[in-house]
Parts: sequence; structure tokens; C-alpha cells
Amino acid sequence: MREVQSTDSPSLLCRLYVLTGNRQHSRNARVDMASGKETTDEEEFLDDGCIFCLIANEEDKEAEVIQRSNELVCFKDICPAAPHHYLVVPRKHIMSCLLLNKEQIGLVEKMAEMGKDVLRARGVTDMNDISLGFHQPPYTSVDHLHLHVLAPKSQISTLFAHKFIPDSPRFITERTLRRCLQEITPPHNCLFDCLSFF
Ligand SMILES: [Zn+2]
Ligand SMILES: [Zn+2]
Repeated sequence: MREVQSTDSPSLLCRLYVLTGNRQHSRNARVDMASGKETTDEEEFLDDGCIFCLIANEEDKEAEVIQRSNELVCFKDICPAAPHHYLVVPRKHIMSCLLLNKEQIGLVEKMAEMGKDVLRARGVTDMNDISLGFHQPPYTSVDHLHLHVLAPKSQISTLFAHKFIPDSPRFITERTLRRCLQEITPPHNCLFDCLSFF
């Protein structure tokens, strides 16, 4: 396994979320989240200190939520790197793409579909000029699985372009992630071996 090293300080996005985050959390949210499935070591329904859990459960009034389903929520990135820049998150707290396995390929597909739906609804027509992907630890700004949805890809700000280089150690496209997951069965640390090739 390749060792990933990073001396990056927490990103602006991360710090902004921490600053604006409402850490209040009601017990009811945990009950609402319950879908009958048991939590595992890798997956918790809700993390009390996680800003994306708060957004997913409508407890953060400042987030601009665009679309939601039983499983997912899409909202605007507060630090957009392109004319369209949204995040799709599962309502359930999953820390990162490294904790996914083959059984969650469907979840990744649904996240991508919601991202594309939102882009289409906002007038994006060239689906070849979009970018859908996940940051890989240790390059994650918030430790709650989130799909970055950017369009047009060709207009990603040069200031942020290094964060969204497809299939780099920092950023893995949803398509590549699904391909990796296809080859992986738990334990999940095998995924890290797969992803560290990029
Ligand atoms: Zn969370
Ligand atoms: Zn991110």
C-alpha cells in the first residue's frame, strides 16, 4: 500500500463549515434517520459534530439545499470552484469513499444521478463537460461522504483546479470509484489499495 502524505492544512471549505456549523443536534433526528438497517463500525447514521449530517437533516439553516430524496441531499458548495458546484451527500453518515464496498455501488450511482438531475434542472446540457467525483482521504475537507458535482468542467477555476484532477490521489471520479468497488469485497481496506494506484 502506498503511503499517502499530506501537509495540507484544513481547506477553506472545511474551516468555513466548522465556523458556520450549528453543532446543536436533536435526538429526534437520529430516530428519523433510522431505516431499519443496523449501523456497523464503518457506518453511523448520524455524527453529532458533522456539518453535513446537520445539512442532511435540515438542521443547518444556511445551507442552500437544492434537492433531496429519502437517502440523499444535494446542496450548493459554499466555496464554488465552477459556475455550477454542488455536493450530494447520503443522509447516513459515512466517513469517506474508502469505507464503501461493492454493496454500495448503487448508492454511488444514485448520488451521481442526483447530481446530473440537478445540473439538467439548472440548464446544463453538455454532460460531457461535467465532473463528478470524490476527494480521497487525507484530502477530504469534511469527513462525510460527498460527491462533488461541477459544471462546466472546462470552467473549473484555475485556483481550485488542482483539487479536481480526475483520478489523481486527491480526487477519484465516481465512474472509477464504481469500477474499483466492483472488484472489492469487504474488508474495505482493499479499496484503499485499489484507489492508491491513482
Ligand atoms: Zn455526517
Ligand atoms: Zn470535498
